[in-house]
Amino acid sequence: MRSRFQLALIFAVCVAALQLHAGAQGRGGGPAAGGTTAGAGRGYPTPEQYAASKDAQAHVAKAKAIAGSDAKLMARFENTCGPLGPQRPALEAQNAGRKPEPPRPVEPVPIFDNLWYFGFNTVGAWAVRTSDGVILIDALNTVQEAETIIEPSLRKVGLNPADVKYVIVGHGHFDHFGGAPYFQDKYKARIAMSGLDWDLIERPNPNANPAQANRPRPRRDLVITDDQKVTLGDTTITLRVTPGHTVGAMAFLIPVKHRGQPLTVLMLSGANITPDRASLEAFHRALDAAKAAGAQALLNGHPGLFGDELGWMDGLRKNPGGPNEFVYTRDQFARFIDIMKECAASRVVAMGL
Ligand SMILES: [Zn+2]
Repeated sequence: MRSRFQLALIFAVCVAALQLHAGAQGRGGGPAAGGTTAGAGRGYPTPEQYAASKDAQAHVAKAKAIAGSDAKLMARFENTCGPLGPQRPALEAQNAGRKPEPPRPVEPVPIFDNLWYFGFNTVGAWAVRTSDGVILIDALNTVQEAETIIEPSLRKVGLNPADVKYVIVGHGHFDHFGGAPYFQDKYKARIAMSGLDWDLIERPNPNANPAQANRPRPRRDLVITDDQKVTLGDTTITLRVTPGHTVGAMAFLIPVKHRGQPLTVLMLSGANITPDRASLEAFHRALDAAKAAGAQALLNGHPGLFGDELGWMDGLRKNPGGPNEFVYTRDQFARFIDIMKECAASRVVAMGL
């Protein structure tokens, strides 16, 4: 049983994490202090720039045409296109001075036969079971959360925390790497991150409050480069470096089983943040690789960016054999990829880049 103090601390840390998370890419704030966002500009066009740019609107029209009459793709188009992209609700709330939604723990949920979501309504970690142990993706905010949330969640779904062989950190923000030292120290798990984001977390972050600044960081271990593979047993995860949200944020291609059938998942750790031409090109390369691999689902460490992921998870908890809203047909997902590409391009061209 956690003490009230610990709960209060977790709450405070997560709110700060979310504020920093949104603040790192908020428009109007200039480039993020601490180098959390690549590129020299604000990262997003203004609504005026966006509306006035014929090129941007041509990309928007193309994305809308790709969605066509498919209601699911039209919903994705609506939260992916626009000057702020899928981060719009968080950024608008922040710009209006509203406090982010308080985090609450959620029950672990199997999204696929061998992939689970653990953590909060606001940020999560993922476990992938392989034939030779477990790969964790991200590790929540703190060592304490690794101990009190991730470890019990692993046990609850029948996994042994001592079998965690890798923790792959999608990008170098503390709400993703915070719990990694716990697995590095206690279970000798290998910690993988892009080289640029290892550098990022080793620099003092002027955005961090004192609790965050003093937080243990994982010791530099596996350095991921673009298109690198991490293999454990029967599972090979392919990693692409997609700068934008951080300088070394990564996209993942994760092979899973869905009701016994193989399925490829695309995970975008840095969401759709492409503040400049180079990041747009890297994003497009990662998405093209996902399309070539026949990906059929999109995940992100923060539920609610691309759709009603919390609602979809609830659906799977209540009715594990019912519809899995995370899954698209191959053709549908290929079109979703093209929508994301057009929408990202619309923001870059609207900034005149
Ligand atoms: Zn982040």
